[in-house]
Amino acid sequence: MDTSDDKKNAAPPTLRPEQDDRRWAGVDLMQYKQEGSAPFRDITRQVLFDDPQLAAQMRYFEMAPGGYSTLERHQHMHAVMILRGHGRCLVGNRVFEVNEHDLVTIPALAWHQFRAPDDAPMGFLCVVNAVRDKPQLPTPADLDALRADAATAAFIRT
Ligand code: MN
Repeated sequence: MDTSDDKKNAAPPTLRPEQDDRRWAGVDLMQYKQEGSAPFRDITRQVLFDDPQLAAQMRYFEMAPGGYSTLERHQHMHAVMILRGHGRCLVGNRVFEVNEHDLVTIPALAWHQFRAPDDAPMGFLCVVNAVRDKPQLPTPADLDALRADAATAAFIRT
């Protein structure tokens, strides 16, 4: 039986053990985004999974106390699981309290932002399409629309 195609297509088995608290073997600790490319604060990125045989990436982001991700939207979805701590997130026009192991989905084109509390870090896993559109930042008109809601206005960081 010729299994050469199977062999060619099979990814090598891998194990990436957690080597330190939420630091994985062979995974670089990176900046969240290029400095100056978008507003964010005190957040790191690790790409845990990125293999062309599955059209998705799994990343781990961790925010220091008071940190926040960029307020943005895009066509691609996110599936997010809080892995460490607790905090809050904006999804569309709602602000949610999120706790460890909660799952949050971010629909296409929903404005979203994650914030750690001021006194503790928060980390989350995020699954996305490997090929995806570039995030959009809010225009002044978008911000006006978001700030029409008092809870959203108090929450967002730009
Ligand atoms: Mn996003």
